[in-house]
Amino acid sequence: MKEINRRKFLKIGTLGATAISFGASFGGVIPIVGMRGRNVSMFTSKFRKGIPTICNLCPNRCGVIGFLRYEDLAAIQGNPHHINNQGKICARGIAGVNQVYDPDRLLHPLKRVGARGEGKWKKISWEQALTEISNRLQTINNENRNHEFVFHTDTQNYRGLARRFLNNFENATILNSSALNDLNKTTAQKSIWGEEREIIDAENCRYFLNFGSNPFESHSYFVSFNQRLAEARINNYAKLITMDPLLSNTAGKSDEWIPIKPGTDGIVALAMANVIVQKGLYDAEFISRWTNIPISQLKSHLSQYTIEKAAKISAIDAATIERIAIEFAANRPAVAFSGSGVAQHVNGFETERSIMLLNALVGNIDKKGGVCLARTYQLNDFSPIEINENEPSTVQFFERIKKEKQKVDLYFAYKNNPVYEYPDCNFTQQVMKDESLMPFTVVMDTVKSETAALADLILPAATFVESWDLDSTPSFEMVPFVSLAQPVIKPHGQALSLNDVFLKLSRRMGESISNSMNYESVEDFIKQSVAQIPGLSDEKQFNKLKKQGIWYDKNANPEYELYKKQRFATRSRKFEIAGSNGLPKYEPITEHINVSKNELFLISYSTNVMRQDLTNLKWLAEINHTNKALINAKTARRLRIAEGDYVMLESEIGKIVIKAHITQGIYPGAIAISKGLGHWEYGRIAQSKKFKVKTRIQNLSGGKRMATALIPILLFQFLSTHRAKGRRGRM
Ligand code: SF4
Repeated sequence: MKEINRRKFLKIGTLGATAISFGASFGGVIPIVGMRGRNVSMFTSKFRKGIPTICNLCPNRCGVIGFLRYEDLAAIQGNPHHINNQGKICARGIAGVNQVYDPDRLLHPLKRVGARGEGKWKKISWEQALTEISNRLQTINNENRNHEFVFHTDTQNYRGLARRFLNNFENATILNSSALNDLNKTTAQKSIWGEEREIIDAENCRYFLNFGSNPFESHSYFVSFNQRLAEARINNYAKLITMDPLLSNTAGKSDEWIPIKPGTDGIVALAMANVIVQKGLYDAEFISRWTNIPISQLKSHLSQYTIEKAAKISAIDAATIERIAIEFAANRPAVAFSGSGVAQHVNGFETERSIMLLNALVGNIDKKGGVCLARTYQLNDFSPIEINENEPSTVQFFERIKKEKQKVDLYFAYKNNPVYEYPDCNFTQQVMKDESLMPFTVVMDTVKSETAALADLILPAATFVESWDLDSTPSFEMVPFVSLAQPVIKPHGQALSLNDVFLKLSRRMGESISNSMNYESVEDFIKQSVAQIPGLSDEKQFNKLKKQGIWYDKNANPEYELYKKQRFATRSRKFEIAGSNGLPKYEPITEHINVSKNELFLISYSTNVMRQDLTNLKWLAEINHTNKALINAKTARRLRIAEGDYVMLESEIGKIVIKAHITQGIYPGAIAISKGLGHWEYGRIAQSKKFKVKTRIQNLSGGKRMATALIPILLFQFLSTHRAKGRRGRM
């Protein structure tokens, strides 16, 4: 495999700044490189004990080390042994300490005593909570009504022991909240080459064509991808072109930022594909041998997407579209990729296929520096059930309950907050409140979310430094690995991990279910799971995994063009440019046609230090606690809006009042607000409530102090839609 301990690995990146500061404080006595993966107590000058685990605050699943001060968590840093994040982590991972010591953290199971949503609760024992849930589940199972059991989580929690437990409920309704962000992307990718998401071999790439993604701030493989992208910019002189209506941090660090009209990326990608084909710049061998369409047919299909037509629709001039298409084809290895901004539009499916078409045209599929298939280990593959195929997307789920009377007996949400997160939160709230539609709801989380506030039972969830888990996220070093999450500290209060809850539930249920979960503990399950992998089959090797937090085959080398051996996981076993619904096409967004002068396209974006479920983390809230609507200076002049004015944004589902920030960094017809703020539950920091708290708060040095937190935060409600009316007003 590639030499992990290479030049780049010895450099401390910006994300490893914590290590630099500690190194400096020792006046060079301890070399900076030697400090990686270590943490020193400011009081005793001794190295702290560190236990490797995995951060689960985003899908990147960075390897981290939790450092202890006696029994307490003092700090979280990156694990330098981890081949994906290579010792670097983001601000969210560092602030994971706040999640553990959150003064609003749920510490006991709670049962509703007043009316639903009234806010009256009583503490109950786990015994009572588990008995109530298992009795209900057993009845559902006995009466063959498994589809009335709804489990709601995201992709990363629907696996391992949890998945094994859920396998016992054939036809259970499994809702995947990740679909809310990326369903268009994952479905399009799956249909075209059998993978749900591309892995970009960024460090070997020479040209990045970015459609609306913001990897320097937020991305599904955030730290693993952006550090390699930054290094390719330096080491390979790789060019980065970003098309985005908003001047994101990535756009700002690109060679070119091209402000594009929202929702029109697809026609730009297709016009570029047309240029590449017409000029004969495509990889003829890849297209003829590995795709399911002859070039003549593709050429004829693409001829309708002229650069002039694309220019008119996207507001990017035709010469720029043509120039970038030629550059993209000429500077190989080049990759075209997208982010949630593209996927969340209603035409996101076709746009994603059009972007992947660009990659296929230059033949940069699973090649060094290209878009690659995932290198992972299949863990815990115990004949898992598939998600119910008739299942509507998560958003439609609540509509189906209300409008089509889809029956639900038990709704169980794990670290999931649809009442806040879903586009029409008032509607979701109504459904959740209605006991005739949702008779029994259980929410498991670290703090009381908006969804938990409408539950019948609330269960306290353990954090990632208090839980066991196993992971094999796609490798950016192109060699698969296994990483281990293990408890760094004991769970606070009576918090439990989801795996522990399912294990305990199974023991209260009939033989068929309890036998399928016949493990002494979650650790025992994990041990048996990794034992399937040669190289991790005995106790000694498992102990090494516990010590390092990661394992990979040191003798393995990155292999490319895997499809030549294993083909693509599609029906034709080829890269399917021609899908069941034809060739990639541009679908205009109906609501974006005939927009009046007072209507603006609403863009929602993510910042690197905030996410809806992290709003109560003190360190993050100190950095980011207000939200302003970003408006182009030209538009602001036209609407007579000045910097700091309050404006009302109104859409079909509601309105908000928000301060305006005038900028040149946004497409003139758009308005942007960030995601993550505006909670009415989720803890006092998240709600911008003034409060005094007497609790132990850990600081980076590990010192304990009594703290008074006073954090004013502007409160607003975030509404997700792609179109809003701008109206001027002062308050
Ligand atoms: S990128 Fe940040 S939040 Fe995501 S897993 Fe890594 S440290 Fe955690």
